Formats: sequence, structure tokens, C-alpha cells
Amino acid sequence: MKAIVFERNGGCEVLRYTETPTPKAGPNDVVIQVKASACNFNDIWARRGLPGMKIILPHISGSDASGVVVETGSEVRNVRVGDEVVVHCGISCRECDYCTRGEEFFCPQFKIWGFQTGPLDGAHGDYCRVPAVNVLPKPRNLSHVEAATMPLVLVTVWRMLVTRARIQAGDFVLIWGAAGGLGVMAIQVAKLYNARPIAVASSDDKLELCSQLGAEFVLHRKKHDVFQEVRKITNGRRADIVFEHTGSDTWPLSMQCLKWGGTIVTCGATSGFDAHMDIRLLWNKQQNYLGSHLGNKGELMDAMRFVERGLIKPVVGKVLPLREIAHAQELMETNTIAGKIAMIPPAAA
Ligand SMILES: [Zn+2]
Repeated sequence: MKAIVFERNGGCEVLRYTETPTPKAGPNDVVIQVKASACNFNDIWARRGLPGMKIILPHISGSDASGVVVETGSEVRNVRVGDEVVVHCGISCRECDYCTRGEEFFCPQFKIWGFQTGPLDGAHGDYCRVPAVNVLPKPRNLSHVEAATMPLVLVTVWRMLVTRARIQAGDFVLIWGAAGGLGVMAIQVAKLYNARPIAVASSDDKLELCSQLGAEFVLHRKKHDVFQEVRKITNGRRADIVFEHTGSDTWPLSMQCLKWGGTIVTCGATSGFDAHMDIRLLWNKQQNYLGSHLGNKGELMDAMRFVERGLIKPVVGKVLPLREIAHAQELMETNTIAGKIAMIPPAAA
């Protein structure tokens, strides 16, 4: 099969579009013919290499796929050949005390598929192999392209806002990078809960998209004084929840924009890991700084119900043939695309 493989860390030049063995299902696995995969920032972290994290080489990235089951292992009962499925990318043992409590991300064997797994083994190829427990039915109202772009960002946002930050009706939710893959989901989940999204993005086109998705307020990151605008919008109270994933660039402002007793919830730091923090805010203003990482399969299934009803919609910014993945990663690194980028492998083209 054809896949995107890299054998050393580096820039986009290490990505090779090449022939590689088609995966075989183990007893508890399924093999999926990938109809579409989606790009995530994980792909870029894996390619660049992360200090303190081992990327298994040679590596096929890709933590989101939608496709058709073509092989099932001898022990598989929950899916059949021919089923249309999407993948939940949290791989864990499913037996330990964390897994059985629904806290699979604390499992000692937890790995994000297509990021920490390998060698090879990710979504960006004609076929992929995953444990059968990690597949869900593809929502029938979505195309494979649309479906491929949903699971990772949707489960991440659902856990951040619903499980961790306990979003409530009426909450002002400040959303950084609101036109990106995570942001477009955050706006829609906030609206679903009758909260009030304040979307921050970096161009007028992106702000228009945020408005269409239901953002009640939109702020241009370069033209607006975000802190002053948030104060005005909230009548001086500031945001109930700040949706963080950018890190160093926005963290000081996130703290400034947060109300007394409010919650910052973060799942990443694409602009850098180091941030200054005034500990006085933590105790004096009784603020909550929460970390969140992916989500469990149950959270993804909860969120998918609203996708099936059309209340949460995928936002596909670009569709490219798989061989053009370097271009896709450049678009992500330069923040020039709104929504998600889907890749079509050659066998599905
Ligand atoms: Zn476990």
C-alpha cells in the first residue's frame, strides 16, 4: 500500500510518499481501508520530534481515519467486514483499574494511535490497523471526509468543556484559535450548552466562519485589545471559561481575561510550553487551571450523538491527496487554514 513514512525527525523534507506493507489484523484488531484521514498537530510534533517522548521509527502519522473494515481478527465481535467506521485514537489496555473506570488516558499502556504507536501504524496510508475496541460507527449523515476530521478534536473539546470545565448555560467562553480544528468544535459545543462563545481568530475570513458556527462575539487577535473587549462584553466580569491550547503566546492574557472563580482549561501549547504564572491569582481569585488530554471513548460517543443530529458539524477547510501531506503540514504550521485538513489516500481516490 501507499503511505506517508518518515525514518528520521526533521522538517517536511523527511516525509516520504512510499510503498509499505499492508497491515494484518491481530486477534483483537481490525484493518480499515482508509477513505480519508485527517491532519492534527500531533503529526507535526511526531515529525519534528519531542524532547522526552520517543517517536517510534519508521513512523506513519495520523490519528484520525474514516473508512471501511476489510479484515477482522479471530476474537473480534463488535464490527464486521464492510462496516463504515471512524477511529477513537486513545489506545489502552482496557483491563487496568484506570481503564475500567473510564480513565483510559491514565492507563500505564496509554498511547495515542498514529502518534506514540509504531513502527508505522498510523492513519496516513491506504490501510490502517487498530484494536477493534477503538472503532465507532461512522455517523451516517457524514461523508468519510467529514467523518475523518471529527474524532480527535471533538473528543478533546468535549472533555475540556463538558467533563473538565463543567460548562453551564450562560457562561462566557473565551476561545483562542477559534477557527482552527479545536476552536470550531469549541464554538459548537459551547452553543450546544447555551453558553456564550467569544471567538478569537487572526483574519476577517476566519472570524466570519466563527460567526457562522454560532460565536456570539468575535475578536480579531491583531486588531482588537482582547482583554479590554472581553471586559466590555462581560460587563467587567471577564470570562467564566478560557479555552486554551496555544500556550506561551496567550497564557498571560488568558489569566488576565478570566473572572474570579473562573476556569482555564488547556489541552496543548502550540506556541510554546513556558508561561509565567502569578500564583496569587490561584488562591486570591480562587481560579481553576485545568489540564485535559484527549478523552475516553464514552465521551466521544456522547459527542457523536450530537453530530448525528446535525447539532455539531465538521468544518473541512481543505481536502488534499495523501501525497501532498507536506503542503498540509505547512498550512497548519503557518496557521493559514480554517477548520481541518483531510487527506485522501490513492486507493480511495
Ligand atoms: Zn489500562
